[in-house]
Amino acid sequence: MGSAAAYVGGGVELVLRRNPEVATLIDLSRCGLGRIVKTAEALSLGAQVTLAAISRNGDVKAYAGGSLAYLAGHIAHNNLRNMITIGGAIGRNQPWNDIVPHLIALGAYVEIQDDQERVMPLSDFIRQREPGTLILGVRLPLVNADLHGFLWRFTRTQQDISLLHCSALIGVQESVVSAATIVYAGRPGGTVLYPKVAAELIGRPVKAETFLHAGGVAAQAVEVGDDLRASGSYRRELVRAAMVRLGEEMAGVAQ
Ligand SMILES: Cc1cc2nc3c(=O)[nH]c(=O)nc-3n(C[C@H](O)[C@H](O)[C@H](O)COP(=O)(O)OP(=O)(O)OC[C@H]3O[C@@H](n4cnc5c(N)ncnc54)[C@H](O)[C@@H]3O)c2cc1C
Repeated sequence: MGSAAAYVGGGVELVLRRNPEVATLIDLSRCGLGRIVKTAEALSLGAQVTLAAISRNGDVKAYAGGSLAYLAGHIAHNNLRNMITIGGAIGRNQPWNDIVPHLIALGAYVEIQDDQERVMPLSDFIRQREPGTLILGVRLPLVNADLHGFLWRFTRTQQDISLLHCSALIGVQESVVSAATIVYAGRPGGTVLYPKVAAELIGRPVKAETFLHAGGVAAQAVEVGDDLRASGSYRRELVRAAMVRLGEEMAGVAQ
């Protein structure tokens, strides 16, 4: 499939961008990709599942504290959430996109179809993606279901896109951080995993000081830049603030 054809998810982005190169649209609405299914190993979200459906689904609400369900119910506008699909969000993956970084923080795998059907970590897929690959859906591993999903999107208004996005997945055992994944996006560059920041949390107590320290490391490690919406130095402060907010949430003192 060359650049002259495009799969249609919810069509939101395709209609807005109207790429004149695209002469053929491929309808996925009758391919059986619109279901959310819980198996023994994973919660599977078909590529045609909309944000609205995700936000209402009981299994997604129960997964990792419900962070994905909350996110899916709060970005863009109500009408748009009835159209935006998981496949379309991954297919477009703008640098400020909130869905892709959050799925990566949750440890999502993507199911794809190119010359064969394959499953791979979503983080690898967005790095290596070949044009024309069909996204069939994502799988959220159930081993992460009881961890704590976190997201913080700094926006000027509720419906604005993020000036900075931070997502995390945190495991706690006996008041000590036992597992951590940290992702930033909208820097204004796109999604990046920061294992170095996560390593500053693992093995440390769930206390405000732990996250304050990690915020200092993150402010050094996360590559931020200027664009029309915010300066790099402002974003650097937001990078730090996201870790402080994560600490407040983990310590149960978030406002
Ligand atoms: C006003 C507005 C506000 C928004 N706010 C936010 C926000 O705050 N946060 C956020 O994260 N996003 C936001 N979005 C962006 C939204 O997530 C994207 O526009 C998303 O790409 C739309 O999804 P869709 O299903 O309609 O995509 P479509 O327009 O259908 O497709 C987008 C791209 O993905 C490809 N594609 C679709 N399905 C598949 C598939 N199964 N396999 C392979 N490729 C596929 C298409 O060919 C196309 O290239 C906003 C959009 C609007 C219009």
